[in-house]
Amino acid sequence: MATVFEMIISGDIPSTKLYEDDQCIAILDISPVAKGHALVISRQPYATFTEVPLETLSHMMDIARRIDMKQREVLKAEGTNIMINNSPASGQEVPHLHIHVIPRVSGDGRTPVLKKTSYEDGEIAAYGEKLRI
Ligand code: AMP
Repeated sequence: MATVFEMIISGDIPSTKLYEDDQCIAILDISPVAKGHALVISRQPYATFTEVPLETLSHMMDIARRIDMKQREVLKAEGTNIMINNSPASGQEVPHLHIHVIPRVSGDGRTPVLKKTSYEDGEIAAYGEKLRI
């Protein structure tokens, strides 16, 4: 079944478009964390960050950076969260790759974005061993 983003790309459902080219589109998120929250969406329906070719991902990051700069200029954002929810366990609701660009100002009450945990004694070294690439 087509994702909501495929339907936006095909024009079957409306969106507020900020940018488009042959590799991606950028729109405003309909349910924003902050006003101006944008999504950079791959044109091809790669489900996750893991599947997208690096060249496309790199291009999408360039567009995300341009949106970050625009949010700073026009919305007076002092910072942004650039986020990819990668697979459902991470909170990804739409299985079609997209980069969130969320404008932030200090004191907006949205920090921390994710709740933190802590390591037991010695555990960080063990995780380091397991995860070294
Ligand atoms: P994620 O949880 O990373 O998959 O994010 C999906 C995002 O898509 C959410 O922030 C939704 O608010 C947003 N979204 C869902 N439907 C639409 C839509 N029709 N237009 C714009 N944004 C949407």
